[in-house]
Amino acid sequence: MPHEIVTTERLACSYRAGRVLEDVSITVAAGDYVGVVGPNGSGKSTLVQALIGLVPISAGTASLFGVPSGSFAEWGRIGYLPQSLRLLNPMFPATVAETVALGLLSLKRFPRRLTRHDRDRVAATLEGLGVHDLRHKMIGELSGGQQQRVLLARALVNDPELLILDEPTAALDPETRERFYELIAEMNRLRGVTVLLVTHDAGAIGRHATKMLYLDKRVIFYGSFEEFCGSEEMSTIFGAHSQHLMCHRH
Ligand code: ADP
Ligand code: MG
Repeated sequence: MPHEIVTTERLACSYRAGRVLEDVSITVAAGDYVGVVGPNGSGKSTLVQALIGLVPISAGTASLFGVPSGSFAEWGRIGYLPQSLRLLNPMFPATVAETVALGLLSLKRFPRRLTRHDRDRVAATLEGLGVHDLRHKMIGELSGGQQQRVLLARALVNDPELLILDEPTAALDPETRERFYELIAEMNRLRGVTVLLVTHDAGAIGRHATKMLYLDKRVIFYGSFEEFCGSEEMSTIFGAHSQHLMCHRH
């Protein structure tokens, strides 16, 4: 049995205004590429943030790599690209290379110093995303698409085993978007990196996802991509057109 990277049992989350997610029980195995879909406000971002401790869990449990999320500490095994660029303060006085290096520094103990090897890794990651030329620019000078790629570089620089991407391509032009999806697919296929991808991009899910999670404050569907595509119920709920876009692999 492949080992479990993410497990939730009856997970629920609430904000002040009340419950936004409940009764979520899912298991993500090593090497899965999970497409997370659902209407706006259906709790997708809340779920991924709850998994990594950015949003408190109000009921149920979550574990990461077999460890209850409350005692999980190996954050370097997880790369996270947030939906909102708000987490990236545009006034933050750092260059692109420094921002990506923060992803490595966060793993180190005092005194936190970058080695030669670390710097090579930062450079290679920037190169892979086509933003190496920008390495000396200040974060605040970049376009939204460039900032997104820098954040992705930060998520990838640790060579994570689990990648959590929350609407990662919203700010990317079509060409960069395709390169981005290819890169993620390659990490998944060749290195067995587990992927949780929140997106409205039906085409990308159709090409890459092995599992589907359809959320609407609770789990409407969780299963294999093939099961999702064969499900008449999903065709009714999700819409035959959307299902076709996703499932008819071009
Ligand atoms: P999705 O990512 O699927 O669009 P979210 O998880 O962002 O959905 O939001 C789910 C619900 O929780 C929405 O009703 C949203 O308004 C609310 N919500 C999200 N983040 C917060 C927050 N930080 N504080 C209060 N309510 C929030
Ligand atoms: Mg969201």
